[in-house]
Amino acid sequence: MDGDILVSWDYPPRCLSPHVLPARSHCEELTWHPPRGDGQARVVRWTCDCGALFYELCQAGGLRFIRRTRRDHSIDESDRWQAREADAMWIALLHGLAR
Ligand SMILES: [Zn+2]
Repeated sequence: MDGDILVSWDYPPRCLSPHVLPARSHCEELTWHPPRGDGQARVVRWTCDCGALFYELCQAGGLRFIRRTRRDHSIDESDRWQAREADAMWIALLHGLAR
């Protein structure tokens, strides 16, 4: 019986962070730029990295932006926004309303 439990257990635990939903038809197109390379950017939120790419919401110098990292480690950065607008963009990204 213990064996049955172990089989159905997903161990090591994965996917503790949110996944982005697939882009919807009325999805907003974000503008992606090469990274500025400001090393002090602080990661505020992040998505699960189990897929082909993952996203991080970063804070740098009072502004926030979204960083997109692909499996091959190529990185793009969104425009920079005030925290309030950036957080809204982050939510839209998670829900497939921005990409
Ligand atoms: Zn995952």
